[in-house]
Amino acid sequence: SRIPLVAGNWKMNFDHREATYFVQKLAWLLRDARFDYHACEVALMPSFTSLRSVQVLVEADRLKIRYGAQAVSVTTQGAFTGDVSADMLAALGCTYVIVGHSERRKYHPEDDANIVDQVRAVLAAGMKPILCVGESFEERRQGIELDFAVGQVHDVTRDLSSDQAAELVIAYEPVWAIGTGMVATPQSAQEAAQAIRADLAATFDEDVAERVRILYGGSVTSKNAVELIGEPDVDGFLIGGAALDPDELSLIARLT
Ligand code: 13P
Repeated sequence: SRIPLVAGNWKMNFDHREATYFVQKLAWLLRDARFDYHACEVALMPSFTSLRSVQVLVEADRLKIRYGAQAVSVTTQGAFTGDVSADMLAALGCTYVIVGHSERRKYHPEDDANIVDQVRAVLAAGMKPILCVGESFEERRQGIELDFAVGQVHDVTRDLSSDQAAELVIAYEPVWAIGTGMVATPQSAQEAAQAIRADLAATFDEDVAERVRILYGGSVTSKNAVELIGEPDVDGFLIGGAALDPDELSLIARLT
């Protein structure tokens, strides 16, 4: 009953001209394959500087591709040089905003309190957060990866209402799998997704747990996507490297 989501996180790649070209090519590939957008959602997360171009193209051609941002300010407006507010992103037609990506947690001062505030800001502006969690190699070595990832989810969701939690998308992205070519096994992606869903059921109820889509991210390609999506609690993907190639991304969407 959950509609899968294939989301491309472009990170700091593509200017607005490259983004426009990519969206046109992806839309053309999916149209050619008679892709059913009702059976699987496709979303792109460009840089802030490309969002307006993507919006204009999507609206002009009435494309069914959705899009969003990679981060957001926790404040609504004012003297915050360089920040972008959730309302500004909503005005650009964003459906999603990635929150708490491991690269943001690493290179920017994003702690749990800040991530909760970002989630709240995104929800207040009527968009959906894609909350990223996942253990590093060290936690996996210690065998505490499930507790770690579930803890990261719990630290955010315990401050939300069930209506808010039901709007979340959660991306389980083990840090050791990001950009390394070392993809998690379908079993371990399922284990993590299942543990996260069980925590949602315990914090809220079964209904919330059944509604939230849980994505896997980390070295997803068209070669490993089929096995991963076969797992019952894996509802799609958050894709980095493979989302920079329209042929590869359209293939993954068709396989999902
Ligand atoms: P890769 O697909 O390049 O491993 O990146 C995953 C990711 O970080 C998506 O947010």
